[in-house]
Amino acid sequence: MINFTPGPSQLYFTVSDHIKKALKEGVPSLSHRSKEFEKLYDSAVSGLHELLGLPADYFIVFTGSATEIWERSLQNLVSDRSLHFVNGAFSKRYFEIATQLDKRPSKIEAKAGEGFASASIDSSYELIALTHNETSTGVSLSLPFINSFKGKQSESLVIVDAVSSLPHVDLDFSKIDSAFFSIQKGFGLPAGLGVWMANERCLAKAKQLASKKGAIGSYHSLPSLYSFYTKRQTPETPNVLAIYLLGKVVEDLLRRGIHTIRKETTYKAVLLYKTLEDHPLIKPFVSNASDRSETVIVADCGNHTKALTEFLTVRGFAPGEGYGEFKERHLRFANFPAHSKEQYECLADALQSFEGH
Ligand SMILES: *Cc1c(COP(=O)(O)O)cnc(C)c1O
Repeated sequence: MINFTPGPSQLYFTVSDHIKKALKEGVPSLSHRSKEFEKLYDSAVSGLHELLGLPADYFIVFTGSATEIWERSLQNLVSDRSLHFVNGAFSKRYFEIATQLDKRPSKIEAKAGEGFASASIDSSYELIALTHNETSTGVSLSLPFINSFKGKQSESLVIVDAVSSLPHVDLDFSKIDSAFFSIQKGFGLPAGLGVWMANERCLAKAKQLASKKGAIGSYHSLPSLYSFYTKRQTPETPNVLAIYLLGKVVEDLLRRGIHTIRKETTYKAVLLYKTLEDHPLIKPFVSNASDRSETVIVADCGNHTKALTEFLTVRGFAPGEGYGEFKERHLRFANFPAHSKEQYECLADALQSFEGH
């Protein structure tokens, strides 16, 4: 069975061998204060730097999940005002957490399945929070849109939730200040680790907030995560196995080549959208082609959702359910490095041959 759910998604095909090797080498019981741990932390972060083309002033720290980074980023980068672009359940959740933390957030909203018109905003926001890939509906923000905030809003920090689009999306990290993901989506790993990339402006802001208020997080704060990062350690006992596996899969992706992976992802996305567009019974949910995500492809199946799910399942494809209010009508198809070209070609053939009940 091939898992097309966006997350947890299909494991990258090398993961089970890496787990076996990790058990043999005693990785799961490695002390997080040992030289061996520092080495595997370093291998994961230097691999990510290379894979994603991170500038030298970015550092990488680990949390429990991306959900934790939603909270930590607001605690560490905002004293008072954040701005959120909201066009689905995940971007909305980020906004709600800001409300819970009393950050007086503002939001600019688009309808589900739609992107944003280019926004002119005032410069009073400390943090602009963008969700590159709205996993609930399959809408992506364009890179020119993401890159349009820095410079104009030189005081604001820009953070990008790229949980369901990395490593595919080729972010220009000089045009933003921070980005993050969790590993059970595009990296094809078991869940249990958030990866937070941030530059020195973020660190300076967090230190400034800490000196004023002190309440930027006691379990994890950016300054403490950073100071442990410089030793390639973590404040707490972390998910050592996940950090090890991330380093190994990043090595595998580097060997395959990020350009090849990105080209293949685009090829698979084009194939699936074409199949949906040509289909008499189902269609792409996102109607504007330039808003369509390449990594989470959402099909509007109308009242064929249940029949199509069964049809695909008996053929070995497990589609992702529609999210929230769209459960009855949508199916979602993750398009990650773990999903091969051949699997996508077979999936497209299967969809083509679906004739309803
Ligand atoms: C899945 C997801 C998250 C949350 O990730 P967790 O690992 O469950 O914390 C956040 N943002 C986006 C866009 C997601 O797809």
